[in-house]
Amino acid sequence: MANDCLFCKIAAGQIPADKVYEDDRALVFKDISPQAPTHLLAVPKEHYASVHEIPPEKVETLMGGLTGAVREAVRLTGINEGGYRLVVNSGEIAGQTVKHLHIHVLGGRELAWPPG
Ligand code: 5GP
Ligand code: ZN
Repeated sequence: MANDCLFCKIAAGQIPADKVYEDDRALVFKDISPQAPTHLLAVPKEHYASVHEIPPEKVETLMGGLTGAVREAVRLTGINEGGYRLVVNSGEIAGQTVKHLHIHVLGGRELAWPPG
């Protein structure tokens, strides 16, 4: 756990969140400022700021666990039916505000392309 990391604190249960799915490797919870009728955040319990900071030997396990959690969450919320979008903002230029790797899961409305 990284000190002063919001999503580490949520994953550790120190800050409350509206959880949709949790297992030993990952957590999926509702975004506090939803940009779609369903807007979830999937985070690994281990702290890495972004995909490129995961050590090579951990990529498969960590991203596999995270994808598995997304898979469960889209089924639990029913957005697998109509479709959904996964977004990972990485770094300043992409507008990442929380420096703990997270996958945005957006669904429940038409989603325009390309994103801004
Ligand atoms: P980013 O901009 O880093 O890609 O996404 C961070 C996301 O975290 C934003 O969509 C923001 O609304 C969400 N967020 C920020 N603080 C909190 C919080 O305390 N609780 C929850 N559930 N989401 C948060
Ligand atoms: Zn963290």
